[in-house]
Amino acid sequence: MSNKELEKNEVFVRTFGCQMNVRDSEIISGLLRAAGYKIALTDKEAKIIIFNTCAVRQHAEDRVWSLIGSYKGTKIIGLVGCMAQNYQERAFDRDASVSFVIGPQDIHKLPEVLSKITHHSLLERKVWETQGSIRPEEIYRTGFHQDQAHTQIVISEGCSNFCSYCVVPYVRGPLRHRKFQSIIEEIRSALDSGISRITLLGQNVNAYQDGDLDFTKLLKAVNALNGLEELGFFTSHPKDVHLEFFKAINELDKLTKTLHLPVQSGADRILKLMNRGYTRKDYLAKVTSYRKIVEGGTLTTDIIVGFPTESKDEFEETKALISEVGFNGAYIFKYSPRPNTQASKIVPVILEKEIQKRHLEILNLQRAISNKLKHKHAKK
Ligand code: SF4
Repeated sequence: MSNKELEKNEVFVRTFGCQMNVRDSEIISGLLRAAGYKIALTDKEAKIIIFNTCAVRQHAEDRVWSLIGSYKGTKIIGLVGCMAQNYQERAFDRDASVSFVIGPQDIHKLPEVLSKITHHSLLERKVWETQGSIRPEEIYRTGFHQDQAHTQIVISEGCSNFCSYCVVPYVRGPLRHRKFQSIIEEIRSALDSGISRITLLGQNVNAYQDGDLDFTKLLKAVNALNGLEELGFFTSHPKDVHLEFFKAINELDKLTKTLHLPVQSGADRILKLMNRGYTRKDYLAKVTSYRKIVEGGTLTTDIIVGFPTESKDEFEETKALISEVGFNGAYIFKYSPRPNTQASKIVPVILEKEIQKRHLEILNLQRAISNKLKHKHAKK
């Protein structure tokens, strides 16, 4: 097939879930462009639709199935990412229009899989390897960026924390660190292409390690690069943040003075059941230390409401922690049981009606705090 013919095979990549998936979709687009495919801006003109999916919440999965169904078999459908890893062969039973399934560790196989379909009309429904452990470094070098001013740089893949509610370690595999020098080279080439804002990405950036080079050293090295104007990072884990890291946030001139530190619950029993590796007291001590060191630093968090067995008193403890800390913002999630996770085996579960009530209560509380803080800053 000639390049011209190949270009007729427009691909639309539809992304669900976290920032890691947003970056993975960029990588997928870059790899497919290099292989001769045209990346479509909408699904209308595309012959092939790739769903880069998320498995963190049931709601997102339901949406993917409903969208796949809406094409009524008129497109070639690829299920990619965390949900693909979870479903594997079951995806074909769920919807017969799914042509291939590829887990997040194997996205580099996409050009090969699509070539089989587009070159040889090989429309066998198949799960392409979903068990690969480390991605080849080259996939980070496609040079394709959706935004010409900002990009995200993956510093580590997977996670080994096994928080009891989280599906990530099962679908993205154990924590693997990219080489310090490869990360710096990728950032240099992004800066050379005119990008000026960088966000470092990992499920737990503070656990980054390459020999004796840790995350704080990485921040310092990136901050020193010419052409960089703004540096951010996402996500931090409370058990792994420390004094030296807070000092770096305060001192490095290009680093945004904001920290997203997911607490999830304010009750020690629930934190233990969640396998978070810290207590309420530990968390509050880190917040105090961050605020003391980082002048004018802002703080945001994640909260899960309705974790199995969460009592009303424990829920009140979470509310009290939110008020005590005074987060600038928070993502409040309703607990959603995920396959394979330890939490999905804990009973009794909290009734949906009660989860909704608690969710609304915390949303309102956080909204009031965020507004108060905004007004306070506006007055300054
Ligand atoms: S740190 Fe916990 S919540 Fe975050 S990705 Fe790892 S297991 Fe999931």
